[in-house]
Amino acid sequence: MTVSVVLYTCDLRVHDHPPLRAAVATGREVVPLFVLDDRVSDVGFAVPNRLAFLADCLAGLDAGLRARGGRLVLRSGDLVEEVGRVVAESGAREVHVSCGYSAFAQRREERLRKALEGAGCALHVHEPVVTVVPPGQVTPQGSDHFAVFTPYFRRWSQERVRDPLAAPRAVHVPPGIGSLRLPNRSEVQGVSPGLARGGEPEARDRFGSWLHRGPGGIGGYEEGHDDLPGDCTSRLSPHLHFGTLSAVEAVQRARAKGGAGAEAFVRQLCWRDFHHQVLASRPAVAHADYRTKHDRWRTEREAAREIEAWKRGVTGYPIVDAAMRQLNHEGWMHNRGRLLAASFLTKTLYVDWRVGARHFLDLLVDGDTANNQLNWQWMAGTGTDSRPNRVLNPVVQAKRYDPRGDYVRRWVPELAELPGSAVHEPWKLTGLDRAQYDYPEPLVELSEGLARFRSARGSTEA
Ligand code: FAD
Repeated sequence: MTVSVVLYTCDLRVHDHPPLRAAVATGREVVPLFVLDDRVSDVGFAVPNRLAFLADCLAGLDAGLRARGGRLVLRSGDLVEEVGRVVAESGAREVHVSCGYSAFAQRREERLRKALEGAGCALHVHEPVVTVVPPGQVTPQGSDHFAVFTPYFRRWSQERVRDPLAAPRAVHVPPGIGSLRLPNRSEVQGVSPGLARGGEPEARDRFGSWLHRGPGGIGGYEEGHDDLPGDCTSRLSPHLHFGTLSAVEAVQRARAKGGAGAEAFVRQLCWRDFHHQVLASRPAVAHADYRTKHDRWRTEREAAREIEAWKRGVTGYPIVDAAMRQLNHEGWMHNRGRLLAASFLTKTLYVDWRVGARHFLDLLVDGDTANNQLNWQWMAGTGTDSRPNRVLNPVVQAKRYDPRGDYVRRWVPELAELPGSAVHEPWKLTGLDRAQYDYPEPLVELSEGLARFRSARGSTEA
């Protein structure tokens, strides 16, 4: 019997998996393979939170395959060489893989194609697996990608989305293909203490229960998604990042559910595709400004003290500090918190967005090049935002999205005794009251930060 290899990358599931379904449909034996790729570590992408989450994902995938009579084969080293080895050991005639859109994924695919050609083995690249609509499928006239979200969303919404595929009933793995022992999250050092669990079973449970919950779930998502203490977003981003939940399935099941919450959720999933299509067309925006404003950012040396305070969550602005402490504790942060933290670093402190993006990538369990770098650029005003000079005032925003101060009290316990929204402006306390709270003074006056930013950008935008 001839053999097919299914190479897993960021699609660690058995449900709605076109490469696995295609390989199984040939009637051949299948080697489901994951390679712990040296190059991912070399580019600084293998950080503790994502490695720990990955360990759960590999265990979940292995369990899903075993339930169907198969198992996961794990190797480590150079991905292309390892795939070549498994192809040689198993006599495989084809390799199936999901299409990736970053420069890294595209280089990997090119190297793989060349190596497999030499070995007389075909490479089948499947899409859409990572996104709902593949980058490049919808384009405006005269460009290879959309630079503005709203028209993209309009066109994206009209695209036909395939039905999610069921998991195969059986997966037959040929005997004698060696595998490394699967890692365990407890072996990873430096993991955030509140990191969520990964893996396909967890992803499906979370999505299923969130989809059927009213308030606190998809039913309350439209009005609640910016409510910081309410914490009622789906928290599916790490599952979408590792592909333990398919974005196609998420959209189709949300649409089937219907309602304003589902529509708002699908719109957010479109943002994910939007950033992927920008990155696929302009791979350099992972590091370079998409629309430069010729900023002369304060250097890491100049702003070292402020950057350190921002990272530790001791800027003296409670809402920013709460968000940064949530990131440190959970390896995840609410979207509103991410916006506030990014606005504060790039606009109030006038520090290069790349410094913040790197720090987020060091910690975020969902950290990925398309969504992290392009959201940072959006907030820094070097990306796709049509109001590039907008500055989020952390006090105004705190009063709007955390009106009773509960989010701040949860993450900044030094201020837990302060009543109501007083927690957002501890500097207004006087005398003895102030002495009771061991909390820093604001790093910089907001008006000073704003003036510096406006003068740098030559802007008067509010
Ligand atoms: P929900 O509100 O439940 O949304 C559902 C899904 O839609 C998310 O899981 C996510 O896949 C997608 N989504 C929602 N908002 C966005 C958005 N603005 N851009 C792209 N996709 C979105 N998201 C990442 O997945 N990885 C990142 O590295 C990342 N870095 C970010 C950095 C900054 C500075 C900012 C402002 C945002 C970043 N985001 C990133 C986007 C967003 O904050 C997260 O996707 C979201 O908070 C995840 O929580 P959730 O799953 O509960 O989202």
